[in-house]
Amino acid sequence: MNILIKNTTIVTMDGEKIIQNGNILIEGNIIKKVFVGEVDESHTKYIDTIIDGSGLCSLPGFINCHTHVPMTLLRGEGEGKSLMKWLKESIWPKEEQFKKEHIKVGASLAFIEMIKSGSTTFNDMYLHEREIIESAIENKIRGFFGYTIMGEKWREHFKKSKELHNLINSLQYDKMKNYTVAPHSPYLLSEEALNEIAIYAKEKGSIIHTHIAETKDECNIIKERYGTTPVKFLKRCNVFESKVVAAHSIYLDDEDMDIYKNNGVSAIYNPQSNMKLASGVAKIKELKEKNINVCLGTDGTSSNNNLNMFEEMETGAMLQKLHYEDPAIFNGYEMLQMATVNGAKALGIEKLGKICEGYIADVVMLNMKEAEMMPDKNLLSNLVFSANGGEVLHVIINGEIIMKNKEMIYIDEEKILFESNKLAKNLI
Ligand SMILES: [Zn+2]
Repeated sequence: MNILIKNTTIVTMDGEKIIQNGNILIEGNIIKKVFVGEVDESHTKYIDTIIDGSGLCSLPGFINCHTHVPMTLLRGEGEGKSLMKWLKESIWPKEEQFKKEHIKVGASLAFIEMIKSGSTTFNDMYLHEREIIESAIENKIRGFFGYTIMGEKWREHFKKSKELHNLINSLQYDKMKNYTVAPHSPYLLSEEALNEIAIYAKEKGSIIHTHIAETKDECNIIKERYGTTPVKFLKRCNVFESKVVAAHSIYLDDEDMDIYKNNGVSAIYNPQSNMKLASGVAKIKELKEKNINVCLGTDGTSSNNNLNMFEEMETGAMLQKLHYEDPAIFNGYEMLQMATVNGAKALGIEKLGKICEGYIADVVMLNMKEAEMMPDKNLLSNLVFSANGGEVLHVIINGEIIMKNKEMIYIDEEKILFESNKLAKNLI
């Protein structure tokens, strides 16, 4: 499908450049041209759809770098508990009851929420990724999929992770589906397991998606077992010989940060989850000063409790300002970078996260006439500190319109909302 978006404000994310009254020409799944001025027949000849962008702002779709999508069904579970207590008492017993239908419906519910709040790519880690892939294919959202490897059943999980890799390879013409190796964390895996996983990831050239240094408890466990920090322990297991995207990354010392820097690790900032579970504050200012790539993720809904990247950007900036007692740090543009281009870099998709010629056509269009977006003189600040996601009108993923005028094209929203509520309430 070829699409022309006419007369729109474009937040390119190619630096801070904003184009007023611009046009975006999309051919297939690629942004063919971004231009200002008259639209003539040479632009419209092969166009299937024209979208009037007046009063709307177009920006690259958000890249949510850390999710566990079926956890939408566990939204609100175990409120008020710390991470380990919450996992053991509230989350794992419910997840054990999950069947295929829970995964598919939970994932679809997540996709509705993500698309409606402007996310077009997610990086997931869970135990039933096959069903999540099926749901992502039906709902046409771009995903990265990792089968969580953890605990005593790690060999079984590792086998399923390899099967997932084969499945994704069989979808080789579908660039919307991407594989990661997903060891849960240093505290839920042995040294032997992490070494084997690291060898496999390196052999296959796969990204490793994991949780690192999320809580003080984790650091104490690793210190007691191995006499070092989670990051140095993972280095000893050769995990950083692959490209790593590391959720949380809160408790890092200077040497840990240098390991990140020297090995091209991307830190995933998960401010709302970290605040809700009282895990701690990631030192994003220091990470950025060391030129470490920092992207953004919501984590699962049960520790957030939503998948809204607008909220994540705003909370993330405010938490850093408060933590460092400096209102000047983390402006709108920096937070938008984390939610777009930095995510693309972390996941290794070079031509994603900008509205520029030659980039993948993931475009989100917001209504700028909502009250909270007025006055419109500081758009980047408005997008991060004023918008709430309810402004998102149209969403294009991989050159295809997925939501138009807030209506989901491929998902039966009413059915998924009903089924998810029923399935969640039937869990014991
Ligand atoms: Zn997580």
